[in-house]
Amino acid sequence: MKVLVINCGSSSLKYQILDMENESLLCKGLVEKIGIDGSVITHEKIGMDKFKLETPMKDHKDAIAQVLAAIQDKDHGVVADMSEIGAVGHRIVHAGEKYANSVLIDDSVLKAIEECVPLAPLHNPANLLGIAACKELMPSTPMVGVFDTAFHQTMPAESYIYALPYEYYEKYGVRRYGFHGTSHKYVSKVAADMLGKDISELKIITCHLGNGASVAAVKNGKCIDTSMGLTPLEGLVMGTRCGDIDPAVINFLANAENLSIKEIDNILNKKSGVLGISGVSSDFRDIEAAQAEGNARADLALKVFAHVVKQYIGSYVAEMNGVDALVFTAGVGENDKQMRAMICDEMDYLGIKLCKERNDVRGKETVISSDSSKVKILLIPTNEELMIARDTQEIVNNLK
Ligand code: AMP
Repeated sequence: MKVLVINCGSSSLKYQILDMENESLLCKGLVEKIGIDGSVITHEKIGMDKFKLETPMKDHKDAIAQVLAAIQDKDHGVVADMSEIGAVGHRIVHAGEKYANSVLIDDSVLKAIEECVPLAPLHNPANLLGIAACKELMPSTPMVGVFDTAFHQTMPAESYIYALPYEYYEKYGVRRYGFHGTSHKYVSKVAADMLGKDISELKIITCHLGNGASVAAVKNGKCIDTSMGLTPLEGLVMGTRCGDIDPAVINFLANAENLSIKEIDNILNKKSGVLGISGVSSDFRDIEAAQAEGNARADLALKVFAHVVKQYIGSYVAEMNGVDALVFTAGVGENDKQMRAMICDEMDYLGIKLCKERNDVRGKETVISSDSSKVKILLIPTNEELMIARDTQEIVNNLK
C-alpha cells in the first residue's frame, strides 16, 4: 500500500508518500505561504532534483490540490492516478484524553479534534483544515489520525495531574498531556530492536532534542512520564520556549513591564529558550559558533540547556528505578555531538558513559556509549512520517 502522510500547519503543509511494501520513501514536499502572497510548493521525487512551483493557493484545499497534481505529475510524480494511494495518515497535535492510539477518521474523531481546539489553538484548527481538504478531494480514500499526545496517554495520574484545584482538570482538562509522542514511540521501538530485546523488558529514556524538545520515560514499552505539559511550553529549555519556570514570573513581569498575558505568552513561547539566554539565535549551530568566539551568554545558554536535560534524565532514572537505554533524537540530538557530550558528562554514577570516538557521528542509528557503560546510549534519527504511515497501514488493513 502507498500511504500519503500529511502534516498540516496554519500556513504550511508537509507531505510524504511511502510505499509500505518495503517502507521506502517515494517523494516528499512542502507547501508554504498558504493563503498568503507568494504561495509555493517544493516537491522532491526521491532520486531527482526538487522542483518549485509558485502559484496562488488561497486555502488548504488549493494546497492539497497542488500536492495531488505534483504526485501525479508525469515527470516528478510517483503514482499514475490517485487510486494507487491506499490511505492518508494525518499528523494531529492534540487529542486530549480521547485517544491513546491512532484511529480511522470519522465524524466522531473530527468532533474530538474540534473539542481539543482550546488545548491546541494554533495546531488543531490547521489539522482539521487539512483533513477537510483531503476529504473533499479524495472522498473515497480512508484517512487515519495519528496524534502527538496519544503515546503519553499511558502516564499514571501522578505523572499528569498538576497541583492545582482539581476542578480545573475536571472542567477544562488542565493536566500534562505531552507531545512528540510519535517520535518517542518510534525511537523507543528502534532502541529495543537495536538492543535485541523485547520492549516490554526495557526502561528507556528518549530525548527528542530539536527546536522543540522533550524527554520521555518509557517503561516496558509504555510512556510513564514526559516533560511537556498542557502545551508544548513546559519542560526542557528549547530553541525559543522557556520550559519550566516559576509560574510567579508571569505576574512579576506583567507588573514590572506592564505586559498583557498574551504578550508574556508570546515572550515565553517565541523569545525565550536558548535564543532568550544567548541573544544570538535559536539554532544550536549559531550558538556554538558564538561560544567558540568567546560569547559568554552563548556559553551559558548551552550550559543551561544541558543542565535541564540532565535533570530530567536523573528524575526519570529515579521514577523507573533504573534505565537500560538513553536515546538521542531530533535536530540537536542527532547532529550535535558537543551537546550530547555536555548532557552525558559526569553521569557515570548512573551508569551513563559516553564514548568520545563513537559520539563523533551524525544522523545515523548507532551506539555511542563506551563498552563499560551500564546504560546503552543510542543515537536514533527519528522518523515520525514512517510511524504515521505504519499506523495508517495497520488500521486500514484491519478494515478489510
Ligand atoms: P528539529 O526541530 O528536530 O528539526 O531540529 C532543528 C534544530 O536542530 C536546529 O534549530 C538546530 O538547533 C539543530 N541542529 C540541526 N543540525 C545541527 C548541527 N549540525 N549541529 C547542531 N545543531 C543542529
